[in-house]
Amino acid sequence: MYERVENILKMAEEKNTAAIAFICMDFIMARSVICAAEETNTPAIVMLYPEHASLQHTCNLSGYAAMVEELASGVKVPVGLHRDHDYTYDSIVDAVGKGFRSVMMDGSMHDLDTNISMTKAVVRRAHELGAIVEGEIGHVGSAAEADNYREDLFTKPDAAERFCRESGVDSLAVSIGNAHGEYKETPHLNLKRLEEIKAAVKVPLVLHGGSGIPDDQLTVAFSKGIRKFNLGTEFLRKYYDAMQRFMDENADNPDPVKIINYPEYIQARLQPYVEERMKALCRF
Ligand SMILES: [Zn+2]
Repeated sequence: MYERVENILKMAEEKNTAAIAFICMDFIMARSVICAAEETNTPAIVMLYPEHASLQHTCNLSGYAAMVEELASGVKVPVGLHRDHDYTYDSIVDAVGKGFRSVMMDGSMHDLDTNISMTKAVVRRAHELGAIVEGEIGHVGSAAEADNYREDLFTKPDAAERFCRESGVDSLAVSIGNAHGEYKETPHLNLKRLEEIKAAVKVPLVLHGGSGIPDDQLTVAFSKGIRKFNLGTEFLRKYYDAMQRFMDENADNPDPVKIINYPEYIQARLQPYVEERMKALCRF
C-alpha cells in the first residue's frame, strides 16, 4: 500500500521503533525493498538520493515517484517515498511537484539562523503543496573524515528545540556520533545526547549514516526516539557485489542477451539483505 511517510512515522512512534529508509537508485533496489517489506510485513520507506537522478542519471524524478507508487500499490504493507538530502528551495519545490510528498531540506552546513530561515521557507511552501519536510541540525558529516568523533558537529538540544519551533519541520535528522559512508572504526552513538534531544523536541527523529552502526546500539536508539533510519552505503555495496558475481558467473556466456536475467539475479541477492535488516531492527 502506498502510504504517506508521516503515517509510517506515526506507526513507528506507536510501536516505539523505526522504519528503515533505504537509498534506492533504481527499479531493482526499490523492488527489492518493497518485496522484502511485504515478505516480513514491515512498513518501509523507499528513498531517492537526489544526485542519483541529477548527476548519475539512474532515474528521472516523476518516473521514480510513479514507479514507487505503482510497486507499493501492489503490496499490502505500507510503503512510503522520501527524497533525501536536498539543499535548495527550488529543487525541493520541483521534486514535490513531481510526486515526492516527503522531502529533506538540509541546511546543516549553514549557521543556525540561516538553516532556520532556509528550512522555514521550504516548510511553508511544502506544506501548502501537501508535503512534509525533514530538517537537519548539528551536522552529519563524513565517516571517511571521522566526523562522527567531532562533538562540535553534534546536535545541541536547545538549538534543536529552537530549530523545530521556528522552522516548523515535520521530522529532524540528528548528529549523535553517526556519519555518512564507511566508518573507520566501530562508531559509538551518544545515546544520552539522543535522550536530551528527544526531551527537547516533539517531532520524530531521524538517524542518517546507518551502515556500520552495531545493531545493539541501533535498537537502543530506536527505543529512545529514532523513528526513521537511513541505510545507503551497505545496500549499495550489496548491489555492487551481486553485480560482480553476475559478471563472474557469466564470463564465458556466449549469449549477451542473457543480460535480461540481471534484474532477477540482483534482486535475489538484495532482498534477503533487506529482509534480514528489517527482522533484526524493526519492531512493528
Ligand atoms: Zn544523510
